[in-house]
Amino acid sequence: MARYTGAVCRLCRREGAKLYLKGDRCYSDKCAVVKRAYAPGQHGQSRRKASEYGIQLREKQKARRIYGILEKQFRNYFEKAERQKGVTGENLLRLLELRLDNVVYRLGFANSRVEARQLVRHGHFTVNGRRVNIPSYLVRVGDQIAVKESSKKAPKFEEISELAAHKTVPAWLEMDKEALVGKVIALPEREDIDVPIQEHLIVELYSR
Ligand code: SF4
Repeated sequence: MARYTGAVCRLCRREGAKLYLKGDRCYSDKCAVVKRAYAPGQHGQSRRKASEYGIQLREKQKARRIYGILEKQFRNYFEKAERQKGVTGENLLRLLELRLDNVVYRLGFANSRVEARQLVRHGHFTVNGRRVNIPSYLVRVGDQIAVKESSKKAPKFEEISELAAHKTVPAWLEMDKEALVGKVIALPEREDIDVPIQEHLIVELYSR
């Protein structure tokens, strides 16, 4: 499955915002957005007024980068969101939130979505008792997401158990911190999704 493999902090600097792609480092003063608060590249420090299109494009890129999705797949999510009832922008964010890698991150099993994606790819999680190693797998209400029994003994997961024990999960998820099993108890509403994205700009971009 294709994914971005370039310098991660560069993406945040490009968007001029913390996208929290690197876990703990993002909360430290080593964060590149804190140290170099301007866009990367030769013209990164030059000032230019963004066009309406430019603003919409940046918002879409920001969303793509937060969730670690390439353009084609993102477009597919948008088309699916458009076909659903309700507000397209909110449908889009809901679909992104329901990805298994995002749910693993939201449950506190990983420090970042990048790490969550890797853990899912390596087959460390089950959904309703069956191993699922597809990061884009969309969970449903009632699904149970758990660390695979044989993976719980790995040092990585002992560390992650501690992490999960201290993390607060969003209202649409439930977590049994002893058993390390999460459950989807509702679909996420817009107010549950704490990403700094103005989704209407993405809708405007794709509606051009
Ligand atoms: Fe972005 Fe985190 Fe890198 Fe800061 S440390 S620039 S928030 S990925």
